[in-house]
Formats: sequence, C-alpha cells, structure tokens
Amino acid sequence: RFEPTYGSVATMDKLKNNWFTESCEMWPGGTFSFEVKEVLHEEKSQYQQIHVFDTTSLGRVLVLDGIIQCTQKDEFSYQEMISFLPLCSHPKPEKVLIVGGGDGGVAREVAKHPQVKEIVQVEIDAKVIEVSKKYLPFMAVGFESQKLTLHVGDGFDFMKNHSQEFDVIITDSSDPVGPAVSLFQENYFALMKSALKPGGIVCSQAGTIWNDIDLVSNTLRFCRNQFPSAAYGYASVPTYPSGQIGFVIGSLDHNVRFDEPKQVFTREDEKAMNLRYYNSDVHKAAFVLPTFVKYRLA
Ligand code: SAM
Repeated sequence: RFEPTYGSVATMDKLKNNWFTESCEMWPGGTFSFEVKEVLHEEKSQYQQIHVFDTTSLGRVLVLDGIIQCTQKDEFSYQEMISFLPLCSHPKPEKVLIVGGGDGGVAREVAKHPQVKEIVQVEIDAKVIEVSKKYLPFMAVGFESQKLTLHVGDGFDFMKNHSQEFDVIITDSSDPVGPAVSLFQENYFALMKSALKPGGIVCSQAGTIWNDIDLVSNTLRFCRNQFPSAAYGYASVPTYPSGQIGFVIGSLDHNVRFDEPKQVFTREDEKAMNLRYYNSDVHKAAFVLPTFVKYRLA
C-alpha cells in the first residue's frame, strides 16, 4: 500500500538544521520533529536504512527507513505493554516467541516475567541487532538473557516451520512498510495460530486509532477470523505518530478476559521488575476504548 522510503537521501533530507522531521504516507499532512545533537550511526542494510541519533530531548533514537522505532525517553511504555498484556493474560506463559524486536527491548521485558522459562526471537535484520548493541545498550541488554535463543531470519518464514510450540507470540515489528508487510496479513495470523500451544496468545503491534483506524480495524479482523477471542488494547507513547499505539491480541481460549489479568503484580513486584508503565490497573484500562473506536471495531 505504501512506497518505502529507501535510501540515504530520502532519510537525510529529513534532517535540516539539526532537526529531524519524521513524515510518512501513512500519516499524510503532519510531521513530528526533534532536535539532533549527533548522528551516531547511519547505514543501509540489506533491508532498510538505519539511523541512530543522539537528541537534545529524547535521548537516543533508532530510526528505520525514516520512521522512529524507539526513543530512550519513552520506549519503556511500548516494550512493557506489548510484553505484559499477553504474558499476564496467559495462565502459564513458559515459552515465548518474539518476532522482530531487533532493538532488544521486548526481550528485556519478557525475560523479567517470573513464569517465562524460554524465549525464542527471530529478527530479519542482523544489522539492527548489531547497531542496537552498540548504541542502545539500555534496550539491547535483553539479548543477554540466558532464557533467549536469537535467530536472524524472516518471522513469516520462521512461523511456517513451527507447530504447537509457543505459549505466547509477540510481534514487535516495524510499520507495514518494507520487510514487515507480511506480518500484518491474515495468513500470518493463521501461521501464528498453528505455532501456538492450546490456549496460546498472540500480540502484535497494530497501529494508531488517530492516523490509521483502517489498519487497526483490518488487523483486528484478521485476528478475529483466526482466533476465538481477540481485542485491541493501547498505550500512550508520545514519540509515535499521534502519541498513541495499539496492539491486537488474540487467544485460542474462548473464555479469556483480556481486561482481567491472570497474574496481578504487587507494588513490590513492579519495583523488582522495574516496571515504569505497566501495572494491573493499566492492563485493565488498556482495553477500554473511546466511543468512535469501540463501535468501529465492534
Ligand atoms: N517498536 C517499534 C515500532 O513499533 O515501530 C518496532 C521496533 S523493532 C526495531 C522492529 C523490527 O522488526 C526491526 O528491527 C525490523 O528489522 C523487524 N522486522 C521487520 N520485518 C520483519 C520480518 N518480516 N521478520 C522479522 N523481523 C522483522
């Protein structure tokens, strides 16, 4: 649907007078800008243009093909929510698959969950992993977990070769532009369904209600077509377009209540796991939708 903005020129055109401006066909007519102190890294990998900036107000920022992936200031909100919404909706999340997540932030969060014994991750771009280890150690610390086995490859292809293996699958992908397009299609949800153990749960990055309600609605429909239970929950992330991002979550359990976490963390648990955004009340509230979204997604 969208033309990727491959190439150094396209991205660096967005950097003028030390201000980087993020714009994309997915949210036409609006931009988000931040002031850059230093371009720490710039390269074109086999899959995408990679930039890491040091900034005056957001800390370090990872940009792929001109689109912000995460900033040091607010990444914890996204990483905690995409991880703990599905993990705490599952009665015993022992084996978890992460698709994408090349910055390591989701692995960092999933590894904290006391019931998780084994994490498998498949990220398509080895360069994103390498660059994150060098410049974004506060997220890439996730790659150091003893629970993790990391593969470099396409998440869609990986899924074809795995059956009834995982309790939870988290898809931490970039937007549906470039290599992530296949991760937003219904056949991907069908493949994930086959890769889950009975009662398993999937959770995918699924866009914002303000800029692309069609993407949210389509992704939820694909999930509903494959899973007996499905919902859209969201988090506040100020540096994503419109400051909001959501997750489509689906379960093989007919009776699951996503807004009633199966594991409720105490304040001591939150401190021990260094949770700064997620708590059990935020979990419940994440599925309460504004009127225009509630009826659009009904
Ligand atoms: N939190 C971010 C967001 O919502 O924009 C996503 C961060 S993470 C860096 C996204 C990762 O997905 C990228 O490193 C990208 O290489 C990876 N990715 C994209 N398509 C993929 C695919 N088909 N299989 C595996 N990983 C993929």
